[in-house]
Amino acid sequence: MNDPISHKLFERAQALIPGGVNSPVRAFRAVGGDPVFIARAEGAYVYGANGAQYTDYVGSWGPMILGHTHPEVIKAIVAAAANGTSYGAPTELEVRFAEKLTQLYPSIEMVRAVSSGTEATMSAIRAARGFTGRDVTVKFEGCYHGHADFLLVKAGSGLATLGVPDSAGVPSSTAGHTSTLAYNDRAALRELFAARGDQIAAVIVEPVVGNMGCVPPVPGFLEEIVALCQKHGAVSIFDEVMTGCRVALGGMQQRTGLTPDMTCLGKIIGGGLPLAAYGGKRAIMQQVAPLGPVYQAGTLSGNPVAVSAGLATLERLDAGAYEKLEHLASRLEQGLLAALARTKTSGHVQRVGSMLTLFFNDGSPVRDWADAKKSDTERFGRWHRAMITRGQYFPPSQFEAAFVSIAHTEADIDATVRAAEEAMLERA
Ligand code: PMP
Repeated sequence: MNDPISHKLFERAQALIPGGVNSPVRAFRAVGGDPVFIARAEGAYVYGANGAQYTDYVGSWGPMILGHTHPEVIKAIVAAAANGTSYGAPTELEVRFAEKLTQLYPSIEMVRAVSSGTEATMSAIRAARGFTGRDVTVKFEGCYHGHADFLLVKAGSGLATLGVPDSAGVPSSTAGHTSTLAYNDRAALRELFAARGDQIAAVIVEPVVGNMGCVPPVPGFLEEIVALCQKHGAVSIFDEVMTGCRVALGGMQQRTGLTPDMTCLGKIIGGGLPLAAYGGKRAIMQQVAPLGPVYQAGTLSGNPVAVSAGLATLERLDAGAYEKLEHLASRLEQGLLAALARTKTSGHVQRVGSMLTLFFNDGSPVRDWADAKKSDTERFGRWHRAMITRGQYFPPSQFEAAFVSIAHTEADIDATVRAAEEAMLERA
């Protein structure tokens, strides 16, 4: 805001890149003003092209759980790069990566590395279809699972932000294979299975939603998904691209004790480099080429530099790290709630571990997309702009989760809460 350097860069960017950005939410359309162009980052902070410091609650949309430029992660990246940046051939590193993921996620018996969360979900569903011989995918409104055609139906994240839950360019014949239900609606799920259970290949779910803002599952919802899939021979897929290694080292499946048939991972497991993975039951993963007839491949899949960054990150995530994240994020949650009360602003904070969202709504809990979209997005935009001017970098949309890292300090959180309270009072 009032940052001439970002403004000039944004003009140059808009001339050549759609919306001036390489991923839509970054354009700040939902909150107004120019996006901050980032020049560098360290620990809990990002620095704008104009040199301004921001306390970062975006964390590259999730991966930076250790904070930015963690010395051990950078060391691992540099060491790996010195040995060559890509071979397109198997490496010991990716074997260690597979061993690590299968150890952290007991539901994953075999795993394949890919380069983005989009590839992970798209490939998991292809494998589920190949395995079941069925076509229908069930997803939940407001959940975002990347930008594969058949998953861009009533999707969250940037689509929710821009108010276009369905993308143009997706053939209706493709979208027709996707059934969408309200998140947390167990009865609707039971009805759908009763009517079409023998056609359903997979149910894919964000076990805590991050992409309509942070929305936790109601008790029994995830259990019902796993049980109904099992009963009807469909494949349950936990899309833990965001929650994986975030809400616990073993993701939401560790917190719930549930065993989905398949799991998608991304973000944190790549330590800030392009790396993701999908895996699950051996019988399903054995469908994937070259073992089976389901094709999936990638030039940079299992890239040694990315895998090194991921392993270095995972090695640093011990029980102490999650205790610290819980403590800091709880302090932020309590601080924001107190700020709402002190400023007589109506709103609600939802948090699971170190992911959270401040909803500017009537104070009610948000359980699904119908609830989320009742939020006052104008009010959120005003608050966000006021936060940026105070050096606080939150996701530029009401419908995204903010993340705390272990590089944040209590002093950072307290300063953020003070800024948030001032920002709630700002009228412009
Ligand atoms: N699934 C979930 C739950 C996500 O949050 C995201 C991205 N925010 C994706 C899939 C897609 O991942 P990517 O952006 O790496 O393609």
